[in-house]
Amino acid sequence: MSHFDLTLQEEHVAQLRDLLQREDGVEASAYVLCGEAQIRCDPWGNYSRRRATSYEVIPVPPEDCVSASKGHVTWSTASFVKLLKRAQAEKLVVGIVHTHPQGLDCFSDQDDRNERELVRMAQNRNGTEASMISVLFAGADTIRARLWHDTTEPVLAKSVLVAGKKLSFHRADIQTDLREIFSRQAIAFGDDLNQQLRHLKVAVIGCGGTGSATAALLARLGVGQLLLIDNDRVEVSNLNRLHGSRRSDADAMLAKVDVLAREITGWAIGTRVVPMNCWVGDAACRDALKSCDVVLGCTDDHEGRLLLNRLAYFYLIPVIDMGLAIDPSPAGGFRELSGRVTVLTPGAPCLICRGVVDPIIAREEHLKRTNPELYDRQKREAYVRGGGNPAPGVVTFTTATACAAVDELIQGLTNFRGTDGWLWNQTRRFDRFQDRRPGAEQDTHCPICADRMYWGRGDVNPFLDRAG
Ligand SMILES: [Zn+2]
Ligand SMILES: [Zn+2]
Repeated sequence: MSHFDLTLQEEHVAQLRDLLQREDGVEASAYVLCGEAQIRCDPWGNYSRRRATSYEVIPVPPEDCVSASKGHVTWSTASFVKLLKRAQAEKLVVGIVHTHPQGLDCFSDQDDRNERELVRMAQNRNGTEASMISVLFAGADTIRARLWHDTTEPVLAKSVLVAGKKLSFHRADIQTDLREIFSRQAIAFGDDLNQQLRHLKVAVIGCGGTGSATAALLARLGVGQLLLIDNDRVEVSNLNRLHGSRRSDADAMLAKVDVLAREITGWAIGTRVVPMNCWVGDAACRDALKSCDVVLGCTDDHEGRLLLNRLAYFYLIPVIDMGLAIDPSPAGGFRELSGRVTVLTPGAPCLICRGVVDPIIAREEHLKRTNPELYDRQKREAYVRGGGNPAPGVVTFTTATACAAVDELIQGLTNFRGTDGWLWNQTRRFDRFQDRRPGAEQDTHCPICADRMYWGRGDVNPFLDRAG
């Protein structure tokens, strides 16, 4: 076990700051229950990883507080033991949180001793499989975390991410070698964005017109790790909009992901690309998906979108989903000609509440994938609508939608448009110079985006709690 990282819900960070901030500058503590993602093999590094996601913040009851000063905090373990019981029943991991108000941004020897004692207690009660997370709020805005999986040495988190209205990083190992390639971008945004992008792991789901543009833009922006997922091959009719593709790729029927990976790797601007020629719902790409910090959804399949819609909330991995609607009117002009970009993360309305995914079409797609014969029969008998004529595709509109989505990623990392963070939903009507921000009729009982039971839940069985 050598790699660990933690993602906190922005709302939980605010709750923790409220609980832990003391006027008198004295240390304080709280608990955070976490979900967990187990990754056997990170697609870029081939190592196993554990990623924790904050699930619920719990204050230390006042009667448990023993003593605190500017250099220490001690509390009785009664509430800790209670929490261990709950963690075991709900398959969550107990996290303890404390502060270093003076700003010391690493764990102290005293922390080591105290925490080792707590892990021992956790393993005595819940078995040797039990682990414990420790989170440190140092000074005004530094967050560090580590994982204890036994009583010997803890694993320091490579990074702590905070996901909410924006995406922020707390890293212990700042890389300082800045590449000349991205120097002009640094003039615009400073070195900080380049550093963050270099460490970022981003998935592009669907590598057609929109997806190929998105992947190309992400690489040029300086994203260090790209995961490409798509199960299609290049066809001649794709060549009008598929960035990086050649006529010979269509003749050779190469996979879209392989073509795109070849092109981006050939640029030699430091992007490590992992192509996966499969459908996003295939178990084969689960580890890879869970390894990402952000997902760009460029698929037009409804079943795939339903999966990403859950992934965003379960694993606190923001999904920036895009869609393009081109509907020429027989009378001339267009009934619809718009690109859409939607951000999915706890706090944002989900794709079901926005009416973007159609569960009936998703069901038909599922049937087509799993039982093509039955699907064909039902299509003949008109039980399913089936795919009609080929969808229209124009490179400027697919690429413009990709630009808007990647801009949204930059907004989430930098707040360059102001301090409001992501825009949950935006559409651009290309034939009317019209930008809109359509709201959502959020179902107050939506299990994904209204209820919080899935937020930060991490691994469950079945994956994403989807039956069938
Ligand atoms: Zn400490
Ligand atoms: Zn919803």
